[in-house]
Amino acid sequence: MPSKKPVKKNKPTAVKKIVKKEPEKNVSKKKETITPVKTAAVRNVKALETLRGMKDILPKEEKYWLGLRRNAEKMCAAYGYGYFDTPILENAGLFIRSIGKGTDVIEKEMYVFEDRDGDKVALRPELTASAVRAYINNGMHTYSQPVKLWYFGPMFRHDRPQAGRFRQFNQFGCEVFGAHDPVVDAELIVLAHNFIADLGIKSTVHINSIGTLSERKNYISELVSFLKSRRSILCEDCKRRLLKNPLRCLDCKEESCKKNLEEAPQIVDWLEESSKNFFMKVLEYLDELSIPYVLNPRLVRGLDYYCDTVFEFFAEEEGEGGGVALGGGGRYDGLVEQMGGQPTAGCGFALGVERIIAVWKKMENKEPEVAAVGPAIYFAQLGEQARKKALYLLEDLRKAGIFVFHNLSKGSLKVQLESANSKKVTHTVILGQKEVQDGTVIIRDMESGIQEIIDQKKLRAKLEKILGKNQV
Ligand code: AMP
Repeated sequence: MPSKKPVKKNKPTAVKKIVKKEPEKNVSKKKETITPVKTAAVRNVKALETLRGMKDILPKEEKYWLGLRRNAEKMCAAYGYGYFDTPILENAGLFIRSIGKGTDVIEKEMYVFEDRDGDKVALRPELTASAVRAYINNGMHTYSQPVKLWYFGPMFRHDRPQAGRFRQFNQFGCEVFGAHDPVVDAELIVLAHNFIADLGIKSTVHINSIGTLSERKNYISELVSFLKSRRSILCEDCKRRLLKNPLRCLDCKEESCKKNLEEAPQIVDWLEESSKNFFMKVLEYLDELSIPYVLNPRLVRGLDYYCDTVFEFFAEEEGEGGGVALGGGGRYDGLVEQMGGQPTAGCGFALGVERIIAVWKKMENKEPEVAAVGPAIYFAQLGEQARKKALYLLEDLRKAGIFVFHNLSKGSLKVQLESANSKKVTHTVILGQKEVQDGTVIIRDMESGIQEIIDQKKLRAKLEKILGKNQV
Protein backbone atom coordinates (compact mmCIF):
# COMPACT_ATOMS: atom_id res chain seq x y z
CA MET A 1 0.00 0.00 0.00
CA PRO A 2 1.48 3.42 -0.88
CA SER A 3 2.37 5.17 2.35
CA LYS A 4 2.89 8.88 2.87
CA LYS A 5 6.45 8.28 4.06
CA PRO A 6 8.33 8.69 0.76
CA VAL A 7 6.89 12.16 0.44
CA LYS A 8 8.09 13.00 3.94
CA LYS A 9 11.56 11.59 3.18
CA ASN A 10 11.89 14.09 0.32
CA LYS A 11 11.64 16.89 2.83
CA PRO A 12 14.86 16.87 4.84
CA THR A 13 13.62 19.40 7.35
CA ALA A 14 10.64 17.25 8.29
CA VAL A 15 12.90 14.21 8.72
CA LYS A 16 15.22 16.20 10.94
CA LYS A 17 12.30 17.25 13.06
CA ILE A 18 11.13 13.68 13.61
CA VAL A 19 14.64 12.33 14.35
CA LYS A 20 15.24 15.08 16.88
CA LYS A 21 11.94 14.86 18.64
CA GLU A 22 11.32 11.13 18.94
CA PRO A 23 14.00 10.16 21.46
CA GLU A 24 12.94 12.99 23.80
CA LYS A 25 9.34 11.89 23.55
CA ASN A 26 10.21 8.29 24.40
CA VAL A 27 12.36 9.26 27.40
CA SER A 28 9.65 11.38 28.93
CA LYS A 29 7.05 8.68 28.33
CA LYS A 30 9.22 6.08 30.05
CA LYS A 31 9.67 8.31 33.04
CA GLU A 32 5.96 8.78 33.35
CA THR A 33 5.05 5.08 33.39
CA ILE A 34 8.03 3.42 35.09
CA THR A 35 9.26 5.84 37.75
CA PRO A 36 6.98 5.72 40.79
CA VAL A 37 5.94 9.35 41.28
CA LYS A 38 4.51 9.90 44.73
CA THR A 39 2.92 13.21 43.85
CA ALA A 40 1.11 11.69 40.87
CA ALA A 41 -0.73 8.96 42.78
CA VAL A 42 -4.01 9.89 41.15
CA ARG A 43 -2.53 9.57 37.71
CA ASN A 44 -1.21 6.09 38.55
CA VAL A 45 -4.63 4.99 39.74
CA LYS A 46 -6.18 6.28 36.51
CA ALA A 47 -3.72 4.22 34.48
CA LEU A 48 -5.20 1.13 36.14
CA GLU A 49 -8.77 1.94 35.18
CA THR A 50 -10.43 0.79 31.99
CA LEU A 51 -11.19 3.59 29.55
CA ARG A 52 -14.61 5.23 29.83
CA GLY A 53 -17.32 3.13 28.24
CA MET A 54 -15.19 -0.03 28.23
CA LYS A 55 -15.38 -2.90 30.69
CA ASP A 56 -13.92 -6.22 31.72
CA ILE A 57 -15.88 -9.42 31.36
CA LEU A 58 -15.52 -11.59 34.46
CA PRO A 59 -15.94 -15.34 35.10
CA LYS A 60 -19.19 -14.71 37.00
CA GLU A 61 -20.70 -13.69 33.66
CA GLU A 62 -19.30 -16.69 31.87
CA LYS A 63 -22.62 -18.47 31.49
CA TYR A 64 -24.07 -15.47 29.69
CA TRP A 65 -21.16 -14.77 27.38
CA LEU A 66 -20.19 -18.31 26.50
CA GLY A 67 -23.81 -19.45 26.52
CA LEU A 68 -24.77 -16.72 24.08
CA ARG A 69 -21.84 -17.43 21.82
CA ARG A 70 -22.48 -21.15 21.84
CA ASN A 71 -26.14 -20.59 21.02
CA ALA A 72 -25.03 -18.38 18.11
CA GLU A 73 -22.69 -21.11 16.87
CA LYS A 74 -25.42 -23.75 17.00
CA MET A 75 -28.06 -21.53 15.47
CA CYS A 76 -25.81 -20.44 12.58
CA ALA A 77 -24.68 -23.99 11.89
CA ALA A 78 -28.34 -25.04 11.71
CA TYR A 79 -29.12 -22.27 9.21
CA GLY A 80 -25.99 -22.98 7.14
CA TYR A 81 -23.94 -19.86 7.97
CA GLY A 82 -20.12 -20.02 8.00
CA TYR A 83 -18.13 -18.26 10.75
CA PHE A 84 -15.83 -15.41 9.73
CA ASP A 85 -14.10 -12.46 11.35
CA THR A 86 -12.26 -9.38 10.13
CA PRO A 87 -9.49 -7.24 11.65
CA ILE A 88 -10.60 -4.84 14.36
CA LEU A 89 -8.41 -2.14 12.81
CA GLU A 90 -9.02 -1.18 9.17
CA ASN A 91 -8.37 1.74 6.84
CA ALA A 92 -10.63 4.56 7.98
CA GLY A 93 -11.62 5.11 4.34
CA LEU A 94 -13.38 1.74 4.27
CA PHE A 95 -15.94 2.88 6.84
CA ILE A 96 -16.20 6.46 5.61
CA ARG A 97 -16.95 5.34 2.04
CA SER A 98 -19.48 2.70 2.98
CA ILE A 99 -21.26 4.02 6.07
CA GLY A 100 -21.36 7.59 4.72
CA LYS A 101 -19.83 10.92 5.77
CA GLY A 102 -23.01 12.49 7.10
CA THR A 103 -23.82 9.66 9.52
CA ASP A 104 -23.43 9.91 13.30
CA VAL A 105 -21.18 6.85 13.34
CA ILE A 106 -18.63 8.48 11.03
CA GLU A 107 -19.06 12.08 12.06
CA LYS A 108 -19.14 11.73 15.81
CA GLU A 109 -18.38 8.20 16.96
CA MET A 110 -15.65 6.43 15.01
CA TYR A 111 -12.24 6.00 16.64
CA VAL A 112 -9.87 7.32 13.96
CA PHE A 113 -6.16 7.91 14.30
CA GLU A 114 -2.91 7.90 12.38
CA ASP A 115 -0.79 4.82 12.92
CA ARG A 116 3.00 4.92 13.05
CA ASP A 117 3.21 4.85 9.25
CA GLY A 118 1.01 7.90 9.03
CA ASP A 119 -1.93 5.88 7.67
CA LYS A 120 -5.41 6.91 8.77
CA VAL A 121 -6.92 3.87 10.46
CA ALA A 122 -10.11 3.22 12.44
CA LEU A 123 -11.42 0.73 14.99
CA ARG A 124 -14.38 -0.97 13.33
CA PRO A 125 -17.64 0.69 14.43
CA GLU A 126 -19.69 -2.12 12.83
CA LEU A 127 -18.88 -5.08 10.65
CA THR A 128 -20.89 -4.88 7.42
CA ALA A 129 -18.34 -2.64 5.69
CA SER A 130 -15.54 -5.04 6.64
CA ALA A 131 -17.64 -8.01 5.50
CA VAL A 132 -18.05 -6.38 2.10
CA ARG A 133 -14.30 -5.73 1.90
CA ALA A 134 -13.63 -9.35 2.91
CA TYR A 135 -16.12 -10.60 0.30
CA ILE A 136 -14.34 -8.63 -2.44
CA ASN A 137 -10.75 -9.23 -1.23
CA ASN A 138 -11.18 -12.97 -0.84
CA GLY A 139 -12.94 -13.49 -4.15
CA MET A 140 -16.07 -14.79 -2.45
CA HIS A 141 -18.07 -14.03 -5.60
CA THR A 142 -16.51 -17.27 -6.94
CA TYR A 143 -18.08 -19.26 -4.07
CA SER A 144 -21.44 -20.89 -4.51
CA GLN A 145 -23.98 -18.08 -3.92
CA PRO A 146 -25.49 -16.98 -1.67
CA VAL A 147 -22.55 -16.73 0.72
CA LYS A 148 -23.91 -16.87 4.27
CA LEU A 149 -21.62 -15.62 7.03
CA TRP A 150 -21.80 -14.98 10.77
CA TYR A 151 -19.54 -13.20 13.27
CA PHE A 152 -19.31 -12.40 16.96
CA GLY A 153 -16.90 -9.74 18.19
CA PRO A 154 -16.10 -6.27 19.50
CA MET A 155 -17.05 -2.96 17.83
CA PHE A 156 -16.03 0.54 18.90
CA ARG A 157 -17.95 3.82 18.95
CA HIS A 158 -16.86 6.92 20.83
CA ASP A 159 -20.37 7.84 21.91
CA ARG A 160 -21.48 9.26 25.28
CA PRO A 161 -21.53 6.20 27.57
CA GLN A 162 -24.76 5.47 29.43
CA ALA A 163 -26.82 2.45 30.47
CA GLY A 164 -26.56 -0.10 27.64
CA ARG A 165 -24.27 2.11 25.59
CA PHE A 166 -20.57 1.39 25.64
CA ARG A 167 -17.58 2.53 23.65
CA GLN A 168 -16.48 -1.04 23.17
CA PHE A 169 -19.38 -3.44 22.74
CA ASN A 170 -19.92 -6.78 21.03
CA GLN A 171 -22.19 -7.75 18.21
CA PHE A 172 -23.39 -11.09 16.93
CA GLY A 173 -24.32 -10.71 13.30
CA CYS A 174 -25.06 -12.44 10.03
CA GLU A 175 -24.51 -11.30 6.44
CA VAL A 176 -25.81 -12.90 3.24
CA PHE A 177 -24.23 -12.02 -0.11
CA GLY A 178 -25.43 -12.82 -3.60
CA ALA A 179 -29.22 -13.16 -3.30
CA HIS A 180 -31.73 -10.42 -4.07
CA ASP A 181 -34.58 -12.47 -2.71
CA PRO A 182 -37.10 -11.50 -0.01
CA VAL A 183 -36.79 -14.96 1.49
CA VAL A 184 -33.24 -14.02 2.55
CA ASP A 185 -34.47 -10.95 4.45
CA ALA A 186 -37.13 -13.11 6.10
CA GLU A 187 -34.66 -15.86 7.00
CA LEU A 188 -32.32 -13.35 8.64
CA ILE A 189 -35.18 -11.88 10.67
CA VAL A 190 -36.35 -15.35 11.69
CA LEU A 191 -32.83 -16.39 12.70
CA ALA A 192 -32.33 -13.30 14.88
CA HIS A 193 -35.83 -13.63 16.33
CA ASN A 194 -35.30 -17.29 17.20
CA PHE A 195 -31.89 -16.56 18.67
CA ILE A 196 -33.42 -14.01 21.04
CA ALA A 197 -36.48 -16.20 21.76
CA ASP A 198 -34.29 -19.20 22.63
CA LEU A 199 -32.91 -17.17 25.52
CA GLY A 200 -36.45 -16.74 26.81
CA ILE A 201 -36.58 -13.07 25.71
CA LYS A 202 -39.68 -11.82 23.92
CA SER A 203 -38.97 -9.37 21.15
CA THR A 204 -40.79 -7.55 18.38
CA VAL A 205 -39.27 -6.64 15.09
CA HIS A 206 -40.03 -3.20 13.63
CA ILE A 207 -39.80 -3.28 9.87
CA ASN A 208 -39.92 -0.85 6.97
CA SER A 209 -38.81 -0.50 3.38
CA ILE A 210 -36.69 2.48 2.36
CA GLY A 211 -36.75 1.50 -1.32
CA THR A 212 -34.04 1.92 -3.93
CA LEU A 213 -31.59 4.80 -4.11
CA SER A 214 -33.59 6.66 -6.75
CA GLU A 215 -36.91 6.19 -4.92
CA ARG A 216 -35.25 7.46 -1.78
CA LYS A 217 -33.81 10.52 -3.55
CA ASN A 218 -37.28 11.66 -4.60
CA TYR A 219 -38.64 11.00 -1.15
CA ILE A 220 -35.79 12.84 0.57
CA SER A 221 -36.37 16.04 -1.38
CA GLU A 222 -40.02 15.94 -0.29
CA LEU A 223 -38.99 15.23 3.30
CA VAL A 224 -36.48 18.09 3.29
CA SER A 225 -39.18 20.57 2.17
CA PHE A 226 -41.39 19.32 5.00
CA LEU A 227 -38.59 19.58 7.57
CA LYS A 228 -37.58 23.06 6.40
CA SER A 229 -41.14 24.24 6.94
CA ARG A 230 -40.74 23.24 10.60
CA ARG A 231 -37.06 23.97 11.03
CA SER A 232 -37.50 26.35 13.94
CA ILE A 233 -39.12 23.68 16.10
CA LEU A 234 -36.64 20.90 15.36
CA CYS A 235 -34.04 19.89 17.96
CA GLU A 236 -30.42 20.98 17.39
CA ASP A 237 -29.41 17.48 16.22
CA CYS A 238 -32.22 17.39 13.67
CA LYS A 239 -31.26 20.84 12.37
CA ARG A 240 -27.83 19.40 11.66
CA ARG A 241 -29.31 16.15 10.24
CA LEU A 242 -31.55 18.20 7.95
CA LEU A 243 -28.42 19.31 6.10
CA LYS A 244 -26.41 16.10 6.23
CA ASN A 245 -28.72 13.11 6.68
CA PRO A 246 -32.38 14.20 6.68
CA LEU A 247 -33.68 10.61 6.86
CA ARG A 248 -32.22 10.37 10.35
CA CYS A 249 -34.68 13.04 11.55
CA LEU A 250 -37.37 10.40 11.19
CA ASP A 251 -36.09 8.31 14.06
CA CYS A 252 -35.10 11.17 16.36
CA LYS A 253 -35.77 10.20 19.97
CA GLU A 254 -36.71 13.73 21.11
CA GLU A 255 -40.39 13.85 22.03
CA SER A 256 -40.95 17.25 20.36
CA CYS A 257 -39.40 16.02 17.09
CA LYS A 258 -41.38 12.79 17.23
CA LYS A 259 -44.58 14.81 17.48
CA ASN A 260 -43.48 17.20 14.78
CA LEU A 261 -42.82 14.37 12.38
CA GLU A 262 -46.15 12.65 12.78
CA GLU A 263 -47.35 14.36 9.62
CA ALA A 264 -44.13 13.88 7.67
CA PRO A 265 -44.43 12.22 4.25
CA GLN A 266 -43.96 8.45 4.42
CA ILE A 267 -41.42 6.70 2.26
CA VAL A 268 -43.80 3.89 1.39
CA ASP A 269 -45.72 6.34 -0.82
CA TRP A 270 -42.58 6.85 -2.92
CA LEU A 271 -41.90 3.15 -3.53
CA GLU A 272 -42.40 1.77 -7.01
CA GLU A 273 -44.29 -1.44 -7.68
CA SER A 274 -41.24 -3.74 -7.65
CA SER A 275 -40.01 -2.41 -4.28
CA LYS A 276 -43.50 -2.68 -2.81
CA ASN A 277 -43.82 -6.27 -4.04
CA PHE A 278 -40.43 -7.19 -2.62
CA PHE A 279 -41.41 -5.80 0.76
CA MET A 280 -44.82 -7.50 0.71
CA LYS A 281 -43.10 -10.84 0.08
CA VAL A 282 -40.84 -10.36 3.12
CA LEU A 283 -43.93 -9.70 5.24
CA GLU A 284 -45.72 -12.73 3.79
CA TYR A 285 -42.83 -14.99 4.81
CA LEU A 286 -42.85 -13.53 8.31
CA ASP A 287 -46.62 -14.10 8.53
CA GLU A 288 -46.11 -17.67 7.39
CA LEU A 289 -43.72 -18.24 10.28
CA SER A 290 -45.83 -16.28 12.80
CA ILE A 291 -43.02 -13.83 13.53
CA PRO A 292 -44.57 -10.80 15.26
CA TYR A 293 -43.67 -7.52 13.53
CA VAL A 294 -44.68 -3.88 13.59
CA LEU A 295 -44.76 -1.85 10.38
CA ASN A 296 -42.84 1.27 11.28
CA PRO A 297 -42.79 3.90 8.49
CA ARG A 298 -40.32 5.97 10.48
CA LEU A 299 -37.64 3.30 10.72
CA VAL A 300 -34.76 4.26 8.43
CA ARG A 301 -31.55 3.00 10.15
CA GLY A 302 -28.66 5.41 10.31
CA LEU A 303 -26.26 4.25 7.66
CA ASP A 304 -26.08 5.28 4.00
CA TYR A 305 -25.75 1.83 2.50
CA TYR A 306 -29.18 0.45 3.34
CA CYS A 307 -31.93 -0.06 0.75
CA ASP A 308 -35.30 -1.85 0.66
CA THR A 309 -35.92 -3.82 3.86
CA VAL A 310 -34.72 -2.36 7.17
CA PHE A 311 -35.57 -3.78 10.59
CA GLU A 312 -34.84 -3.43 14.28
CA PHE A 313 -35.51 -5.74 17.23
CA PHE A 314 -36.87 -4.46 20.53
CA ALA A 315 -37.28 -6.33 23.79
CA GLU A 316 -41.04 -6.46 24.45
CA GLU A 317 -42.53 -3.92 26.84
CA GLU A 318 -42.63 -6.07 29.93
CA GLY A 319 -40.28 -5.95 32.91
CA GLU A 320 -37.45 -3.51 33.17
CA GLY A 321 -35.74 -4.36 29.89
CA GLY A 322 -38.81 -3.43 27.80
CA GLY A 323 -38.28 -1.36 24.69
CA VAL A 324 -34.52 -1.86 24.57
CA ALA A 325 -33.14 -1.96 21.02
CA LEU A 326 -31.50 -5.35 20.79
CA GLY A 327 -30.27 -5.11 17.21
CA GLY A 328 -31.11 -4.32 13.65
CA GLY A 329 -30.22 -4.74 10.05
CA GLY A 330 -31.31 -4.50 6.49
CA ARG A 331 -30.53 -4.90 2.85
CA TYR A 332 -27.50 -3.27 1.19
CA ASP A 333 -27.67 -4.33 -2.46
CA GLY A 334 -25.47 -1.58 -3.92
CA LEU A 335 -22.64 -1.72 -1.42
CA VAL A 336 -20.39 -4.42 -2.90
CA GLU A 337 -20.36 -2.63 -6.24
CA GLN A 338 -19.87 0.75 -4.60
CA MET A 339 -16.80 -0.65 -2.82
CA GLY A 340 -15.27 -1.92 -6.06
CA GLY A 341 -16.74 -5.41 -6.40
CA GLN A 342 -19.17 -6.86 -8.92
CA PRO A 343 -22.86 -5.99 -8.48
CA THR A 344 -23.88 -8.25 -5.59
CA ALA A 345 -26.92 -8.19 -3.35
CA GLY A 346 -26.40 -8.13 0.41
CA CYS A 347 -28.49 -8.30 3.55
CA GLY A 348 -27.62 -8.71 7.23
CA PHE A 349 -28.25 -7.93 10.89
CA ALA A 350 -26.26 -7.20 14.03
CA LEU A 351 -27.45 -7.87 17.58
CA GLY A 352 -25.98 -6.07 20.59
CA VAL A 353 -24.56 -8.72 22.92
CA GLU A 354 -24.34 -6.49 26.02
CA ARG A 355 -27.95 -5.34 25.54
CA ILE A 356 -29.23 -8.90 25.19
CA ILE A 357 -27.29 -10.03 28.25
CA ALA A 358 -28.62 -7.08 30.26
CA VAL A 359 -32.24 -7.99 29.43
CA TRP A 360 -31.51 -11.65 30.03
CA LYS A 361 -30.12 -10.87 33.50
CA LYS A 362 -33.16 -8.80 34.45
CA MET A 363 -35.66 -11.54 33.67
CA GLU A 364 -36.89 -12.79 37.01
CA ASN A 365 -36.52 -16.50 37.77
CA LYS A 366 -35.16 -17.11 34.36
CA GLU A 367 -31.73 -18.66 34.36
CA PRO A 368 -30.18 -18.79 30.93
CA GLU A 369 -31.80 -21.57 28.99
CA VAL A 370 -28.52 -22.70 27.56
CA ALA A 371 -26.73 -25.97 28.14
CA ALA A 372 -24.30 -26.03 31.09
CA VAL A 373 -20.87 -24.89 29.96
CA GLY A 374 -17.85 -27.13 30.38
CA PRO A 375 -17.34 -29.73 33.08
CA ALA A 376 -20.10 -31.21 35.19
CA ILE A 377 -17.67 -33.27 37.32
CA TYR A 378 -15.34 -32.33 40.15
CA PHE A 379 -12.13 -34.20 40.96
CA ALA A 380 -11.08 -34.15 44.65
CA GLN A 381 -7.84 -35.62 45.97
CA LEU A 382 -6.39 -36.27 49.45
CA GLY A 383 -2.71 -36.55 50.26
CA GLU A 384 0.51 -36.16 48.30
CA GLN A 385 0.38 -39.53 46.54
CA ALA A 386 -3.21 -38.93 45.47
CA ARG A 387 -2.28 -35.50 44.16
CA LYS A 388 0.44 -36.97 41.96
CA LYS A 389 -1.87 -39.67 40.71
CA ALA A 390 -4.58 -37.06 40.13
CA LEU A 391 -2.20 -35.07 37.92
CA TYR A 392 -1.75 -38.12 35.76
CA LEU A 393 -5.45 -39.07 35.68
CA LEU A 394 -6.57 -35.50 34.90
CA GLU A 395 -4.14 -35.31 32.00
CA ASP A 396 -5.41 -38.64 30.72
CA LEU A 397 -9.00 -37.38 30.91
CA ARG A 398 -8.11 -34.08 29.24
CA LYS A 399 -6.53 -35.93 26.30
CA ALA A 400 -9.78 -37.86 25.97
CA GLY A 401 -11.67 -34.55 25.78
CA ILE A 402 -13.16 -34.86 29.27
CA PHE A 403 -12.80 -31.70 31.33
CA VAL A 404 -13.35 -31.79 35.08
CA PHE A 405 -13.17 -29.07 37.73
CA HIS A 406 -10.41 -29.56 40.30
CA ASN A 407 -8.29 -27.65 42.75
CA LEU A 408 -5.03 -29.47 43.30
CA SER A 409 -3.75 -26.81 45.69
CA LYS A 410 -6.42 -27.74 48.26
CA GLY A 411 -5.86 -30.69 50.57
CA SER A 412 -9.06 -30.82 52.63
CA LEU A 413 -11.90 -32.99 51.33
CA LYS A 414 -14.46 -30.72 53.02
CA VAL A 415 -13.16 -27.64 51.18
CA GLN A 416 -13.07 -29.51 47.88
CA LEU A 417 -16.62 -30.81 48.27
CA GLU A 418 -17.80 -27.28 49.09
CA SER A 419 -16.11 -26.12 45.94
CA ALA A 420 -17.78 -28.95 43.99
CA ASN A 421 -21.16 -27.85 45.37
CA SER A 422 -20.56 -24.26 44.38
CA LYS A 423 -19.84 -25.43 40.84
CA LYS A 424 -23.19 -27.27 40.88
CA VAL A 425 -21.61 -30.47 39.54
CA THR A 426 -23.63 -33.67 39.57
CA HIS A 427 -20.72 -35.98 40.48
CA THR A 428 -17.37 -35.77 42.26
CA VAL A 429 -14.48 -38.16 41.75
CA ILE A 430 -12.62 -38.73 45.05
CA LEU A 431 -9.08 -40.10 45.16
CA GLY A 432 -7.49 -40.77 48.56
CA GLN A 433 -4.44 -42.69 49.81
CA LYS A 434 -6.34 -46.00 49.95
CA GLU A 435 -7.75 -45.63 46.41
CA VAL A 436 -4.26 -44.88 45.05
CA GLN A 437 -3.02 -48.16 46.53
CA ASP A 438 -6.09 -50.14 45.35
CA GLY A 439 -6.06 -48.62 41.86
CA THR A 440 -9.63 -47.34 42.36
CA VAL A 441 -11.55 -44.06 42.68
CA ILE A 442 -14.79 -43.15 44.45
CA ILE A 443 -17.56 -41.51 42.41
CA ARG A 444 -19.98 -39.56 44.54
CA ASP A 445 -23.44 -38.58 43.33
CA MET A 446 -23.70 -35.06 44.74
CA GLU A 447 -27.47 -35.06 45.02
CA SER A 448 -28.07 -38.42 46.70
CA GLY A 449 -24.66 -38.69 48.38
CA ILE A 450 -24.37 -42.28 47.15
CA GLN A 451 -20.78 -43.32 46.51
CA GLU A 452 -19.52 -45.99 44.16
CA ILE A 453 -16.01 -47.44 43.99
CA ILE A 454 -14.70 -48.18 40.51
CA ASP A 455 -11.44 -49.27 38.94
CA GLN A 456 -9.29 -46.33 37.78
CA LYS A 457 -9.07 -47.97 34.36
CA LYS A 458 -12.84 -47.63 34.02
CA LEU A 459 -12.93 -43.96 35.08
CA ARG A 460 -12.86 -42.50 31.59
CA ALA A 461 -15.72 -44.64 30.33
CA LYS A 462 -17.74 -43.95 33.46
CA LEU A 463 -17.28 -40.17 33.15
CA GLU A 464 -18.11 -40.26 29.47
CA LYS A 465 -21.37 -41.92 30.40
CA ILE A 466 -22.13 -39.34 33.08
CA LEU A 467 -21.14 -36.40 30.87
CA GLY A 468 -23.12 -37.79 27.99
CA LYS A 469 -26.13 -37.40 30.21
CA ASN A 470 -25.29 -33.92 31.48
CA GLN A 471 -23.55 -32.16 28.64
CA VAL A 472 -24.88 -31.14 25.27
P1 AMP B 1 -26.75 -0.55 15.08
O1 AMP B 1 -26.18 -1.20 13.90
O2 AMP B 1 -26.11 0.73 15.46
O3 AMP B 1 -28.25 -0.45 15.06
O4 AMP B 1 -26.42 -1.56 16.28
C1 AMP B 1 -27.05 -2.80 16.38
C2 AMP B 1 -27.21 -3.12 17.84
O5 AMP B 1 -25.93 -3.09 18.48
C3 AMP B 1 -28.04 -2.10 18.63
O6 AMP B 1 -29.41 -2.38 18.53
C4 AMP B 1 -27.54 -2.33 20.04
O7 AMP B 1 -28.15 -3.48 20.61
C5 AMP B 1 -26.07 -2.63 19.81
N1 AMP B 1 -25.27 -1.40 20.01
C6 AMP B 1 -25.06 -0.41 19.11
N2 AMP B 1 -24.29 0.55 19.66
C7 AMP B 1 -24.00 0.15 20.91
C8 AMP B 1 -23.25 0.71 21.98
N3 AMP B 1 -22.59 1.87 21.85
N4 AMP B 1 -23.17 0.02 23.15
C9 AMP B 1 -23.82 -1.17 23.29
N5 AMP B 1 -24.54 -1.75 22.31
C10 AMP B 1 -24.64 -1.10 21.14
